[in-house]
Amino acid sequence: MNIALIAHDAKKELMVQFCIAYCGILSRHNLCATGTTGKMVAEATGLQITRYLSGMLGGGQQIAARVSCDEIDLLLFFRDPMAAKENEVSENDMFRLCDMRNIPVATNIATAEVLIHGLERGDLDWRNIVNPGNL
Ligand code: PGA
Repeated sequence: MNIALIAHDAKKELMVQFCIAYCGILSRHNLCATGTTGKMVAEATGLQITRYLSGMLGGGQQIAARVSCDEIDLLLFFRDPMAAKENEVSENDMFRLCDMRNIPVATNIATAEVLIHGLERGDLDWRNIVNPGNL
């Protein structure tokens, strides 16, 4: 599975802790991330991560492009609900694209935990069988 990681600044440490906790599961998948998130997670875990540009420079849009090509199977996007709304439009677009492709998305650690356990259990294997873009 192709898993994308994005974390706002206030949530980056949480993302790092999450990835440390689930390093064993994550290591069996293809990971990509926005620049800073990917750097922090890779340094803390040793996981191989394809790093895109930093969010400020368009890394989120690079991931959105992969989402729209159905190349992402799971998005973990830890948002800071207290952050300024300046990126709201592009973030909403990302979620819209995920909805078009039925891509599971977690915007907080509680949902991420559920999805990562589901991933491990094989609950997301249907993504390898059907093309959800046609659903
Ligand atoms: P970053 O991007 O991982 O490069 O910081 C995420 C964000 O837009 O906050």
